Amino acid sequence: MANKLVEVKNLKKHFTIVKNSGKLFHPDKSILKAVDDVSFDIYEGETFGLVGESGCGKTTLGRTIMRLYDVTDGTILFNGTDISKMSQKELRPIRKDIHMIFQDPYASLDPRMTVSEIIMESMQNDTELPASKRKERVLELLDLVGLNSDHANRYPHEFSGGQRQRVGIARSLAANPKFIVCDEPISALDVSIQAQVVNLLKELQHKLGLTYLFIAHDLSMVQYISDRVGVMYLGKMVELADSDTLYSRPMHPYTQALMSAIPVPDPDLERSKRRIIVEGEVPSPINPPHGCPFHTRCPKAGEKCKQEMPPFIEIAPGHFVACHLYFE
Ligand code: SF4
Repeated sequence: MANKLVEVKNLKKHFTIVKNSGKLFHPDKSILKAVDDVSFDIYEGETFGLVGESGCGKTTLGRTIMRLYDVTDGTILFNGTDISKMSQKELRPIRKDIHMIFQDPYASLDPRMTVSEIIMESMQNDTELPASKRKERVLELLDLVGLNSDHANRYPHEFSGGQRQRVGIARSLAANPKFIVCDEPISALDVSIQAQVVNLLKELQHKLGLTYLFIAHDLSMVQYISDRVGVMYLGKMVELADSDTLYSRPMHPYTQALMSAIPVPDPDLERSKRRIIVEGEVPSPINPPHGCPFHTRCPKAGEKCKQEMPPFIEIAPGHFVACHLYFE
C-alpha cells in the first residue's frame, strides 16, 4: 500500500458562538462542534471522497486539514510532519504542497485580474520559479487543463462556468502541489459540464501523481472519482470504506439511507428500489444528541443508542463503522 500522505487523528474543530444576549461583560456563549473527533488517513496518489448532508462538517474538515482554521484538538500529519499546531509562518514552506479547488470558481477568482495574473500570483506565493519562466509555465498549465494561450489575457467574466473552474484548477497546480482539497468543485456547474471537470481531475491525478480529498454531495460523482469514501454526520465520521464496498454494502443506517437515494439509470430497477427515508432534521451541532448522534433519526435506534456513543471500529479490513448494531 502507498505511503500515508495525510494522517488525521482525533481531530476537533469547534467554534465559539457568542449570542447577542444584551449582557456586555458576560455574553452567552455556546460551542459549535463542526468536526468532532475524526480520524482517518489519506494515501499518496488516492482520491479520498467525503460525503454527508450539508452542515455535516465536511467542508470544515477540509479547511482544517489545510490549516485555514486553527485546530481545536487532535493532530494532522502531512507527509509525516505534524502541522496541526504550526504558526502561519511555519506553515509557509508546506503551503506549496497543499492547495484547494473551491466550489464557486467565479467567487474565488479576482475579477480585476487576467487569467495569467491569477496563475502567476499563485506562483509568486508558492514557488521559486524565476520570473522569466513564469509566462511559459502559465501557458503550460493552461494547456494541461484544456485551455489555450489565447485565454491567458482574458478576465474571469469572459469564461463559462466550466472554463472558470479549469482556471481554478490551473491556479491550484501552479506550485506543483502534492495534495489538493477539492471542496465541492462541481456543485456550481451545469450537470453537462460536471463530468468533464471530474474527468480532468482524474487525468491530472494520473499525469502528476496528485492526491485528492474530494468533498461533494453528489454521491454518484464521488463514487466515480474516489478510491475510498468517508461518510460524515454531525461532525463525526460514521463510516469509511473503499468506494466499491461502501456503495454496494453500506453498513451504517445513515449511509444505507444516503445510498438508497442514488437514482438508478434503469427505470424498472429504479421503480422497484426501496428508498430509505430518514425522517426529521439534522440536529444542531451546537447541541448534538447524547449517545449516537444519529439516534434521533435512525430507523434502527435502540435504548443503548440514546446513552452511548458508538466507537468507530474496523469491522472488516479497511471498513470502519460507528454503530452499535455491529458490536455488543
Ligand atoms: Fe442507529 Fe444506533 Fe447505529 Fe446510531 S448506533 S446508527 S442510532 S443503530
